[in-house]
Amino acid sequence: MRVIVLGSGLLGVSSAWYLSQLGHEVTVIDRQTSPAAETSHANGGQISVSHAEPWANPSAPFKVLKWLGKEDAPLLFRLRADTRQWAWGLQFLRECTPARTRHNIRQIVQLGSYSRDMLQQLRRDTGINYDQRTQGILHFYTSQQEFEGALEPSRQMRELGCERRVISADEAVAIEPALATLRSQLAGATYTAEDESGDARKFTLALAQLCEARGVRFLMGHHITRLLKDGNQITAVEATDPQGRYLQLTADSYVLAAGSFSAALAEPIGLKLPIYPAKGYSVTLPVIDPTRAYQVSLTDDEFKLVFSRYTTPGSDGEAEDRLRIAGTAEFNGYDRQLNAARCQAIVRRVQQLFPGATDVKRAQFWSGLRPATPSNVPLIGQSRISNLFLNTGHGTLGWTHACGSGKALADIVSGRRPELDFAFQGAVPQRSPVAAGRVQAPVVNTVKTPV
Ligand SMILES: Cc1cc2nc3c(=O)[nH]c(=O)nc-3n(C[C@H](O)[C@H](O)[C@H](O)COP(=O)(O)OP(=O)(O)OC[C@H]3O[C@@H](n4cnc5c(N)ncnc54)[C@H](O)[C@@H]3O)c2cc1C
Repeated sequence: MRVIVLGSGLLGVSSAWYLSQLGHEVTVIDRQTSPAAETSHANGGQISVSHAEPWANPSAPFKVLKWLGKEDAPLLFRLRADTRQWAWGLQFLRECTPARTRHNIRQIVQLGSYSRDMLQQLRRDTGINYDQRTQGILHFYTSQQEFEGALEPSRQMRELGCERRVISADEAVAIEPALATLRSQLAGATYTAEDESGDARKFTLALAQLCEARGVRFLMGHHITRLLKDGNQITAVEATDPQGRYLQLTADSYVLAAGSFSAALAEPIGLKLPIYPAKGYSVTLPVIDPTRAYQVSLTDDEFKLVFSRYTTPGSDGEAEDRLRIAGTAEFNGYDRQLNAARCQAIVRRVQQLFPGATDVKRAQFWSGLRPATPSNVPLIGQSRISNLFLNTGHGTLGWTHACGSGKALADIVSGRRPELDFAFQGAVPQRSPVAAGRVQAPVVNTVKTPV
């Protein structure tokens, strides 16, 4: 089958990879000049099945109200005259009940565990390298209240097979000695040994190269202007090429993986996707004292920050060593401006936790728009339009969920039953992968000539 994937972030490229593995002829379209140039560019780097507690949970409404108008708040709603923001906010509140939270944690853990397995399989199959570390993820708490609040979600995650162990402050320091300076302030911690981290942009670029080697075509610098529909079918994608010329691209099936911009592309064809951009920040800092920097990927739940370390071996023996710290969420439309107060709040926390480890004068700040759904559960599967499939809305966990979402999506497009239990969109094929047999042989994609 000919499949067009809209978007070349983590979700678009992983979709393309697994679709090509199943024998489809795949074209990826993106407005940027290279993959992973938007939200997948400089994220927190964590493959964190243990980060499964959604933003919408029973304690969220109180926290959101407390933080309203606070410039450096970890989660900040900037209320706007924007009906989409208000509608999203109301749906978010509905997801805060204990029952919905439990349901959402189940979805997020199941997809996360499957996805981590798929990533590990991909590493074994291809030897892909992206400065990965497989030393687990340690959540630490400097507030007793936050620590106690984490016990029940951690128990639920363990019940679902995610081994997020509750550990003492001493055990935390034994696992990550760089936390020693914080020992007296630690209320407790959790540790998930199977979790990982790695540079999501490097991964996406490397996977795109592997895709190209398998014949996937990347149309970069192509701006998608709209989807054309006839009845219950997408008939073409309209785009402009790098020279500004108008194109129509056609395929048998289409995969919408345009991150925070998926909702805007879907709306004119009658699909209201509950995706709103949640701006997050990251800072990348060169390590100047490796002994003071952490080795294990960390999560500071109180400040809603995640910490990864990327070490790239150099050809001359000199390694490039960087800390990536990311987090905070700001609901303020599509604005990506860097707010100085929020950037400085992150740097202050890094200096407080790991004094002298990095050169803060060379800090590189970045912001990205997480494609957030009210439940934190992504939209994967068939839409109401029969040949339009969704792989979008991955919010805080698009890197953790990329490989599993791509694989499940490719199965659904191919009429195969995905290998995991998850609240997929639309009808889920019931045929097992073996019964589904081989997919139709690829045929050449037709590109209508520009007018
Ligand atoms: C600060 C921060 C920290 C994060 N940390 C983590 C983490 O530690 N672990 C984790 O699992 N996840 C993390 N995430 C989440 C993760 O980065 C996202 O969920 C993921 O990058 C989303 O990928 P995507 O492919 O859906 O979107 P994108 O990467 O944004 O890709 C969408 C693509 O669609 C293209 N596009 C959109 N509209 C058009 C158009 N009209 N025409 C052509 N092309 C178009 C864009 O150019 C873009 O390349 C973090 C996010 C942020 C912001």
